This record gives sequence, C-alpha cells and structure tokens, in this order.
Amino acid sequence: MELPFSESYKIKMVEPIRKSSKEERQRWIKEAGYNLFNLKSEQVFIDLLTDSGTGAMSDRQWASMMMGDESYAGATSYYNLKHAVKNILGFEYMLPTHQGRAAENVLFSALISEGDVIPGNTHFDTTKGHIEFRKATAIDCTINEAFDTTAQHPFKGNVDLNKLESVYLKYPKERIPATIVTVTCNSAGGQPVSMENLREVYELSKKYGIRVIFDSARFAENAYFIKTREPGYASKTIKQIVAEMFTHADGMTMSSKKDGIVNMGGFIALKEEALFKKAAQFNIIYEGYITYGGMSGRDMNALAQGLDEGTEFDYLETRIKQVAYLGQKLKGFGVPVQEPFGGHAIFVDAKRFLPHLPKEQFVAQTLAVELYKEAGARAVEIGALLADRDPITRKNRYPKLELLRLAIPRRVYTNNHMDVIAAALKNVYHRRSEIKTGYKIIDEAPILRHFTVQLTPYQQNVVRSTDR
Ligand SMILES: *Cc1c(COP(=O)(O)O)cnc(C)c1O
Repeated sequence: MELPFSESYKIKMVEPIRKSSKEERQRWIKEAGYNLFNLKSEQVFIDLLTDSGTGAMSDRQWASMMMGDESYAGATSYYNLKHAVKNILGFEYMLPTHQGRAAENVLFSALISEGDVIPGNTHFDTTKGHIEFRKATAIDCTINEAFDTTAQHPFKGNVDLNKLESVYLKYPKERIPATIVTVTCNSAGGQPVSMENLREVYELSKKYGIRVIFDSARFAENAYFIKTREPGYASKTIKQIVAEMFTHADGMTMSSKKDGIVNMGGFIALKEEALFKKAAQFNIIYEGYITYGGMSGRDMNALAQGLDEGTEFDYLETRIKQVAYLGQKLKGFGVPVQEPFGGHAIFVDAKRFLPHLPKEQFVAQTLAVELYKEAGARAVEIGALLADRDPITRKNRYPKLELLRLAIPRRVYTNNHMDVIAAALKNVYHRRSEIKTGYKIIDEAPILRHFTVQLTPYQQNVVRSTDR
C-alpha cells in the first residue's frame, strides 16, 4: 500500500479554540453589522478570514527572535534580512516596512503621480487603493480565463500581453511608472503566473521602457505551481525557480505576512539605486529609519528565517495539498468552487451557489454570513463590497466574480478542521433555496469600505425565521 501524504512538521505548541451555539452566532453577527471583520476572534471557531499574518512560526523562527538586535541603526537583524533578500530573491536594495501596504505607500510615493496608469494582472485591493488615492488608475490586463471559475487553465493569473501592449500604445511611457504583476494573483483567486508569462511581460515592458514591479506576497506558492505545472521546471528547486522569477522584475513589494510566514512585516526590494534612494526618503518619513522601517530587530530575524523555510518544497507541498484537500471535499459535495485550486485559499463561486440573489444584495457576503451562522467559521467576501465604488462616478462596482474566500493560515489547522468547513458549506448548499434575500449597506467608508461596512438584511420589514 502506498503511504498517504502527511504534514512535513509536528506540533510543539497548541492554542485552544472554542465552539459556540447557533443562537450565540446569530446574535453576534447581527451585533457585528453582518460584517465578519467586526466579530471578536473568540466568537470564531475556525478562522479562514485571511492567511495574512495568521501563520504559525517554526521553532527556528522563535529561536531567531531571541537573537534579535534592537539597535536603531545597522542592526545585525537588518543585515540578516538584507542577506536573505539578496540570496533568495536576488535584489541588491531593500527597505523594511511594517507590512505590505506600507511598502506600497512608500514605493508609490516615489513612483506614482496624479493621472498615471498602472497596468497589471488584477491589482490587490490595497494596491489599487494606494494607486487610486494618488488619483492614478489601475488597469486590469488579466487573461479572460481568470474570470471563468470553470475554465481549466494552469496559470489563470497570467497577464494578457495584447491587453498590456494596448495600454503601452495608448499612453505615453511617462504616464506608466510601472506595470505591477501580482504573484500569485490574490484577487483572481490565488492563481499563479507562469514563468513564460513573467518573462514575456518583462520583455514587452523593456521594449516600451516600462518598469516591472512584482507584488510578491505569495511568490513562493507561485514558484510551487511553476514547478508542478510548467514544463521544464519539475527538477528545479523552489529556490532556483524563485531566483529565476525575480530576474523578470525591476523591483518588488512584499507583504511578509504571507509567504514570509511572520505575523507582521513587509519590505520593498529594488535593483535601481536611484529609485531606492528616493523611496528611502519616504521610508524614513512614513515607516522608520532605513535599517528597520517599521520592524523590530527580532521580527526581521524571524522574517529572514521565514523566507528560507517558505521557499522549501516540503513546506509548500504540505500547505498547498491542504488547500487542495478542502477544495476536493467541497467539489465532491457539489459546492461550486473555482478551479484549478489556488495556493492559499479555496474560492467558492457565490453567484453559482446563490444564483437567485441579485448582485445588488451582495451575494458573496450573504454566503459568508450563512457559513458563519452554520459553523462559526469566518471567511471573507471577494465581491462587490470589496470592489468599492468607482472613485469618479461613486457608483457601486460589480466585479465579474462574486467569491467567498476560504483562506487557509499556514501550519495552523489540521485536515479535521477542513472537514468541518466542507460539511458546513454542504449544509448551507442544501438549504440554499431558503436564502431568499441578501444585505444592504447602512454605513460605509469612502475607500476600502469592506473592513468597516455596516449591513442590514435586505428586506428589513420581512422577519426571516433565521433572524428571529
Ligand atoms: C496582503 C497583500 C497586500 C497587502 O499587504 P498587507 O501586509 O496586508 O498590508 C498586497 N498585495 C497582495 C497581493 C497581498 O496579498
């Protein structure tokens, strides 16, 4: 008998979690304005809100924290991180920041002006937020297959080169400070970008004199998919693939809370000295001195170690197979999920799950609330709430996809937890026709509204049995 797959680690420390009753959950979610970000974590049993900063650090990372150097300038921890970035990612210049959006804020302050356009595959929400905040425009050039959850394509995060070139032809290059390629493409479902596409995007951009920046939060998961899906990479190590990927970029922003496997942190890495110097000034204003930029020494040490562990095949295989395990279970139950499965999360296609709900009633958010009521599991809407309003017309933007994202924290939950999630969604799926209405907004912020939005059931005067 072939031995089954199992995790490439064992558990040394545990944290208790608590179940709740359906009645408690109905009260809590109402008090939270039907926004799962407003729940207290102790009101959640299995938390799949995000894989960002929620991972479990290794014994080696904790050990490296004890060796953190908290010197203001020139700390050994800074040099540990700088060397890891140079050795693993290949960049000469590095600026630590407190998280990924801070890296965006600093780099974009040096790079983006009003009226600029920034093409790329689907930009992440904070990336787009930082672009639009500067009165610039993000242009989505992702391949069309990305928007069909049933289409089989190994690299749905790929940039459509024709769409990209049409942007390069339409605007003068002075108005295109960078193209941003997100690896893996979070907003398109954690879908990877192929090495071939990264190379072609870089070559095309060089032809037009445009800089390429990778939004790199899940670069290691992207490398795993290149290794397992792209011809010619099966026998290469993850570290070899990662090094090759970044030869096709002029710079990167990083949310270390993802593939850096730390709870907080980020950085910018660059090849150009001039841009580094300009960004360094903004880093000092917004984040901190250039050798710590918003991170403590111990955290930089843990990140240096995390970058090394996060680019090991065994770790990535354990992680990505757990995500696929959940995806297979859901598929087996007939729940519509995006395929092929992404690296960090399973995306439930809420439009196919609740086809009878109008988009104005926030379909994926409705499903998120139902999953919470069912099992105390917290997932997140990737749909019209997240898409915000158009910054000019202020009209709601309705994206092509309404997704419920089940993000899996790194090294945190077991497959038994995945079984609970799958069973809960199966139950909701069986009673989907009873979910007759969604939600409407009663309060929202002008930008990144999904974090704080307050909702109410769509037809307030109709009392539904589940809300009584
Ligand atoms: C998480 C993320 C960011 C933002 O990083 P934070 O650490 O959350 O500020 C940017 N881009 C992508 C692709 C991300 O996944």
